[in-house]
Amino acid sequence: MITERGKSVYKGVAIGKISVHKSGEQPVKRVHVENIEAEKERFYAAKTKAQEQLKGLYDKALAEVGEANAAIFEVHQMMLDDDDYIESIINMIESQEINAEYAVASTGENFAAMFAAMDDAYMKERSADVKDISERVIKVLTGASDQSMTADEPVIIVADDLAPSETIQLDKSKVLAFVTRHGSTNSHTAILARMMNIPALIGVDYSDDWDGKLAIVDGFEGCIYVEPVKEILDKKEAVRQEELKKRELLQTLKGKENVTLDGQKINLYANIGSLSDVASVLQNDAGGIGLFRSEFLYLENSDYPTEEEQFQVYKQVAENMGGKKVIIRTLDIGADKQVDYFNMEHEENPALGYRAIRICLDRVEIFKTQLRALLRASMFGNISIMFPMIISVEEVQDIKKILEEVKAELKEASIPFKDVEIGVMIETPAAVMISDLLAKEVDFFSVGTNDLTQYTLAIDRQNPALESYPYFRVDHTAIMRMLKMIADNGHAGGCWVGICGELGANMDLLEDFLRMGYDELSVSPTFILPLREKVRNTSLK
Ligand code: PEP
Ligand code: MG
Repeated sequence: MITERGKSVYKGVAIGKISVHKSGEQPVKRVHVENIEAEKERFYAAKTKAQEQLKGLYDKALAEVGEANAAIFEVHQMMLDDDDYIESIINMIESQEINAEYAVASTGENFAAMFAAMDDAYMKERSADVKDISERVIKVLTGASDQSMTADEPVIIVADDLAPSETIQLDKSKVLAFVTRHGSTNSHTAILARMMNIPALIGVDYSDDWDGKLAIVDGFEGCIYVEPVKEILDKKEAVRQEELKKRELLQTLKGKENVTLDGQKINLYANIGSLSDVASVLQNDAGGIGLFRSEFLYLENSDYPTEEEQFQVYKQVAENMGGKKVIIRTLDIGADKQVDYFNMEHEENPALGYRAIRICLDRVEIFKTQLRALLRASMFGNISIMFPMIISVEEVQDIKKILEEVKAELKEASIPFKDVEIGVMIETPAAVMISDLLAKEVDFFSVGTNDLTQYTLAIDRQNPALESYPYFRVDHTAIMRMLKMIADNGHAGGCWVGICGELGANMDLLEDFLRMGYDELSVSPTFILPLREKVRNTSLK
């Protein structure tokens, strides 16, 4: 038995087989080859296999998500037949006597750079596609195409780290736990684990040969046991069963109010990242959705999601919530959430860079497409729109102007929409300091404590070295004072106020939030019932 320690980012016990995930971007080595003809044959065979895979993906997507969403896989098949692309690869193999992997990687990079430099927006976007098809062929060549992440049975995912774009592809019913070498408490893998109600550890020094072995992940103790002895297995299975019983008990709170012993009420809403999370929202009896991170729609696509595609998702979320409030946050891309087809410049400090509302106010067409989809979907439920990363009143006024333009366009085209509530995320110190002014512009505030903590304490939320005391302190006086100020300014200006960052689920601070008068907490769905229990046992007198 091997025992490794890490830092737990979500509690619980999982028992199952390990699947070691290797990142798709393995460096490709340049190797001299003797048999040029055989190498060319290897390339052609890999290209054919990649096209077969794409055909399979096309058929699957066609059946599941329709023609429009499936089309990209057809385009990719055709791109692999492009004469210039093939000629470049064959030339490199012949003239430089090198391996097919290297020729494909170099050609892919060259073509991607060429597309990225073009003026035409459509051609620019093909850059990400060339990278994608090249990676697929390389994976076939290296035999890495069926790596992990696609297990038949539920597994414990062990990885260096998982990018948001990787977690989005996971079949969530097949994941028992996450164990990563890197990552931080507020990383998106951690947030996903909380959403899925499965244990997760970070900072674990794992080895590749754990793949396929039986293991226990103990999120209470922050431990992983690989090939556990029977005694430990029995003990942990007992803890797992006890946890399941506790969860069942919480189910009895469904349908009950979130009210303190002395009568103060609070709304408990849920944070989601995709349509498929709505099931968990309903199962956990959330009063609404307080944060729909809409950028995941962009992350899971290989091209800009169209207005129609977005409309369908927002509409379904609104309909599934049956009239309960659904707060959709506009695109919050950049920083740790990078999307290839946005073709963004490299930045020294992406967290302080070109991200979220800054992109939307600059690339207005992308923003307008999303606003049109949101307004159209407003007819099918109770949608509100929220804007991230605000630092000034002028930004909000610009946003409102664009929103009015979109409304006028819809009216002109006789497309119906409702008058939706709008709110801003308070997640920069600037927004806190001008919250009295912002309150006059919008209907509600939602505090993004993840970013607010990062920017206030000058602590990179992705840096595990700064995660603990004395650096990262959830109840740092600076943050607590800000939270009070936001609530007071919001209420004075006629807004309702909520918290949608991870801090909102902190049981120890719940009483403080209630005393400050917060109207809403939006948390991972699995925290709703434990929080309800705590609210119902709290007295503020
Ligand atoms: C936050 O910053 O607290 C927040 C809720 O947004 P995200 O975690 O998506 O940046
Ligand atoms: Mg944020």
